[in-house]
Amino acid sequence: MTSPTLTLVRGDITRQRVDAIVNAANSSLLGGGGVDGAIHRRGGPAILQECRALRASRYGKGLPTGQAVATTAGELDARWVIHTVGPVHSRTEDRSHLLASCYRESLRVADELGARTVAFPAISTGVYRWPMDDAARIAVETVRRTGTAVEEVRFVLFDDMAYRAFAARVG
Ligand code: ADP
Repeated sequence: MTSPTLTLVRGDITRQRVDAIVNAANSSLLGGGGVDGAIHRRGGPAILQECRALRASRYGKGLPTGQAVATTAGELDARWVIHTVGPVHSRTEDRSHLLASCYRESLRVADELGARTVAFPAISTGVYRWPMDDAARIAVETVRRTGTAVEEVRFVLFDDMAYRAFAARVG
């Protein structure tokens, strides 16, 4: 176990060719907007079908914030989608540990699967309103600190602001 190589791409996570694509899901696992919507649109119905089965078998109350679970990647150019639920940002409560947990748990699931290349979006920075600079700090620090057999962690940033925030942290 060593530290994975961190790479940055500006673009659409659904276009990445990697072993696993991480989805910024919501706890229902039944789809949403942003990354989630894009993954289900491009990946096709097989992903939602497996998400429904996971809801029925293991996550009747939804996937808890900070946890991660894998499904097929359907028609995406990947083997798996790893769904993780980011925390909604709060001004009154520090939920950083939950955001860090998303990265750690996703890498743990990736290791269980044997994934070597994993693409992450900037979890929680869309609808869940986490400030981009802080989200980038937590993402990069957590991935660097996590022991994993994953060789490449690719952060896929949707716009220039996100790309610059991650680039400043990766150095
Ligand atoms: P969350 O609910 O965790 O905030 P969102 O999907 O709303 O998740 O947004 C997370 C981040 O992903 C945002 O910075 C958003 O701009 C970005 N994003 C949205 N669509 C894509 C995409 N297709 N590929 C990569 N990043 C995306």
